[in-house]
Amino acid sequence: MKQNPTHSETLYGVDRWGKGLITVTPDGEIALCDPARNGAPPISLPGILQDLEQRGVVTPLLLRVSSFLESEIRHINESFSNAISRVGYKAPYRGVFPIKVNQQAQVVDRIVEFGRPYDFGLEAGSKPELVIALAHRLSKDALIVCNGVKDAEFIRLAILSRRLGFNCVIVLESPKEAETVIEVTRELGLEPLLGVRVKLTNRIGGKWQESSGDRSTFGMNTDQLLRVVDRLKEENLLHCLQLQHSHLGSQVPDVRDVRRAADEACRYFIELSREGAPLTHLDLGGGLGVDYTGEKRAAENSINYTVEEYCANVVETVGYAMDEAEMVHPVLVTESGRAVVATSSMLIFDVLETTLYDAPDAPEVQPDDHHLVADLAAVSGYLVPGRVQECWNDASFYRDELRALFRRGVVDLRQMARAERIYLSLTARIKSIVATLDDVSELEEQLENVADVYHCNFSLFQSLPDVWAIDQLHPIVPLQMLNQTPDRRAILSDITCDSDGKVDRFILADGISPSLPVHSLPEEGRYYLGVFFVGAYQETLGDLHNLFGDTNVVTIDLRADGGFDLLHEQEGDTISQVLSYVEYDPDDCVAAFRKMVDEAISNGSVKASERKLLIGAYRNSINGYTYYE
Ligand SMILES: *Cc1c(COP(=O)(O)O)cnc(C)c1O
Repeated sequence: MKQNPTHSETLYGVDRWGKGLITVTPDGEIALCDPARNGAPPISLPGILQDLEQRGVVTPLLLRVSSFLESEIRHINESFSNAISRVGYKAPYRGVFPIKVNQQAQVVDRIVEFGRPYDFGLEAGSKPELVIALAHRLSKDALIVCNGVKDAEFIRLAILSRRLGFNCVIVLESPKEAETVIEVTRELGLEPLLGVRVKLTNRIGGKWQESSGDRSTFGMNTDQLLRVVDRLKEENLLHCLQLQHSHLGSQVPDVRDVRRAADEACRYFIELSREGAPLTHLDLGGGLGVDYTGEKRAAENSINYTVEEYCANVVETVGYAMDEAEMVHPVLVTESGRAVVATSSMLIFDVLETTLYDAPDAPEVQPDDHHLVADLAAVSGYLVPGRVQECWNDASFYRDELRALFRRGVVDLRQMARAERIYLSLTARIKSIVATLDDVSELEEQLENVADVYHCNFSLFQSLPDVWAIDQLHPIVPLQMLNQTPDRRAILSDITCDSDGKVDRFILADGISPSLPVHSLPEEGRYYLGVFFVGAYQETLGDLHNLFGDTNVVTIDLRADGGFDLLHEQEGDTISQVLSYVEYDPDDCVAAFRKMVDEAISNGSVKASERKLLIGAYRNSINGYTYYE
């Protein structure tokens, strides 16, 4: 059935979460829009995939769109500078990107490049992340903020980096860390740039509430802060203390929490300044959310504010508090990770096969069949819209009774297969009647349990770990056929052998649904699905469950003429690579297999002429992609 593509845009909520980046073309294809080029034609995503396939890049594929990353960096920085000039705030904004949110070189390199005009810096939460940060040429005024637990080596590198002009701030997490800094400072005879991490008492809503408030595992309470200030004073290092840091947690749903936290942070800032700390930078950490569902409300995976509103709230709150206290406005720092990178990556995979929970036709009841098989088939005789719930109840009852009889050996396999097929054909008719009715929500809910399963070529554990671990929602949409009415509902199952490897919560126009409207697979060509906004956290949190490795990764830039440039390609892991991650030496594996083949030839169970085939098959596998090819 034909469908207007704008209906699909609404059905899948693309018009709500697409943010002007993702749209549906009149041909019914998902397309990417370059936010920097208003009016440039949207670029068809299936078209991009076709082009990539010709170049030998196949799905599953992580597609990074450089133009989206550039636009998010511009958006955050310009929203802050606009708020600063509107409010008359008297210091600049100097954001940093927290490397942990996406450490991939292709991503961090571009963030540094796009951020340079804005003096955008980096945040490091560990030694390896500091090593990454120091491999980049940042602008003269950009910051490197070091959070996390730090040993002497970490601190030494951070202090020494100042000799190269890096504004590398060591944020003290505890009085003990302050002692290590004091020791290393003495040892080097060089002074550090210091910050303190303050534990705010306000609890922030949302999934990450634990990282805020009293029980947060990070930062110092009032007593610890004063101990650190006193120690630094004793050591004549208090003048090094320039930054105050607090982190609100991630994906803060309600902008009022941002205001409350900023306000409390200001109180500490003012008090610490009164204690003699020459603070110049106020760092409010991460928390700026992404509206994954497009609902624009303070709910799971949504936020009730825009980037502009977040920036205005921060600037106004801090400006007001500092004016009240008659203090100089501090440089504003935030560590937005998710909001910078989430939208710029998408995971694309193809559907391999389907398990349909209905059948187009019913087999004839045979004379010897148990009478319940005939009863089940008879339901079809009274299946009309007014009795659809009753028919569903009856069919399910007979089917369950027959299954019990099968288990007891009363009904044989062929009878049972007929019964299942009759049941599935009834389900098909019931589904299509329900689709035309209003006010059958209970039955609709029951029918969700018989949604189809679309088996897809990806690993949830490798590519969408947060979907598995913390019920993260990402927009998921078929990339093609959006000018046709989706005729089926499905859940998605991945290629791992784990029953958790499935997606059964989807963002649709009317809320979160346990199944996704999809199309019957086309006779020709692949059916692609896209999972959007996966740029934050997913890449390195993913694991090797069933030894499915990294997917292919491609970075593209959108061109004004409707084409794209391929900026970088990273081939996905080969089987040999994932084997080495789990302590196997691939060469040893080949050698062991070859030895078994040779032994089998010696004892005569395998012909010498089969040797090449056997070893060749093993070798081909070990050098191949871990996914379905
Ligand atoms: C994780 C983290 C961030 C990033 O938070 P987002 O919500 O992704 O912006 C920022 N700062 C610190 C200290 C973090 O631990």
